[in-house]
Amino acid sequence: MFRGRFAPSPTGEMHLGNARTALLAWLQARANKGAFILRLEDLDTGRVRQGAADQILFDLEWLGLDWDEGWDISGQFAPYIQSQRQEIYAAYAQNLQTYGCSCSRKEILEAASAPHGSEVRYTGTCRDKTNHARATALRFKVPDLETRFVDGICGLVTENVQHTVGDFVIRRNDGVWAYQLACVADDAEMQISHVLRGADLLSSTARQLVLYRALNRAAPRFYHVPLLTDFYGTRLAKRDHALSLKTLRESGKQPQVMVQELARSLGWHIKTPCQPSDLLDVFEASYPLVSSG
Ligand code: GLU
Repeated sequence: MFRGRFAPSPTGEMHLGNARTALLAWLQARANKGAFILRLEDLDTGRVRQGAADQILFDLEWLGLDWDEGWDISGQFAPYIQSQRQEIYAAYAQNLQTYGCSCSRKEILEAASAPHGSEVRYTGTCRDKTNHARATALRFKVPDLETRFVDGICGLVTENVQHTVGDFVIRRNDGVWAYQLACVADDAEMQISHVLRGADLLSSTARQLVLYRALNRAAPRFYHVPLLTDFYGTRLAKRDHALSLKTLRESGKQPQVMVQELARSLGWHIKTPCQPSDLLDVFEASYPLVSSG
C-alpha cells in the first residue's frame, strides 16, 4: 500500500517552494491511489511561529490539496502534530545505542577535524564518559558502515555517516527530540512507504537510513525534488514574504493560477489555470519513475 506524506515545520509562511513540494508529494500519492498524510513538525519550539500551523492548513486547502489521515488528541480530524507524540520518540530511542553528551558547541568545534561541508563531525568525546557536569544531549552511536541508497530523483547516494557527522544528536540538551529521530519514528509508525521532499533534506537521508537499520524497521523509498530558487539561484526561505502563498493570495492570485504556475515551473505544458487533480496525467507522463512509486 502506497503511503506518502508532507511534513512541514510551522516556522513561517508557506512559500512557493513548499507549495511545489507539497503538490508533487500529493500527486505521487494520488497517482498511486495511496494515502496522503500531513504531519506538522513543530518540535523546535524556538523556531515555531504562532499561527503558522493554521496558515499551512489553510494554504493547502486553498491550493486544493487534501489529506487522508491524522487525528488530534481530542479525536478531531487534524494533521499529526509532533509535539503531541514525544513518548513515541522516547520509546524509539530506548531501542538505540545512545550516550549522554555534555560537550558545548565550542568544544565540539575545537575537537572536530575538518568540517564536512557545513556539517561538523562529532569525534565521540563523551562516548565513554559517565559523569556529566551539565545537562546532556543524547547521541546515537553510529556504526562505522557505508550507507548506499538510490534516490528516486537524485540517483545513487553513498555516505558513511560515522565519517561525515559521527554520532549525531537525537535529543537536544533542552530535552527536544531532534528532527532525525522524530522523522524516522513517525515515518515508521505511520508506515510511510514513499518520502518525497525537498532536496535540502537529501543530506539527512543517510542518517535516517542508519536509524532505520538500527531500529530494524523497513525504510521508505526517497525522492528529493529540486528546490525552487529565485532568479539568482538562492533557495526561497520562509521569511521571504514576497513569495509566500498568503501574500500572493492577498494580492489577488487565484489558486488555479497558482497551481498552473507551479506546474509550469516544473516545465510542464499547462495552458490554463487548473486544479491539482488536473495535473495527474502530466505528472505521470513527465515523472514516470516518480509517479510509479
Ligand atoms: N519538516 C521539514 C521541513 O519543513 C521536512 C521534513 C521531511 O520532509 O522529512 O523542512
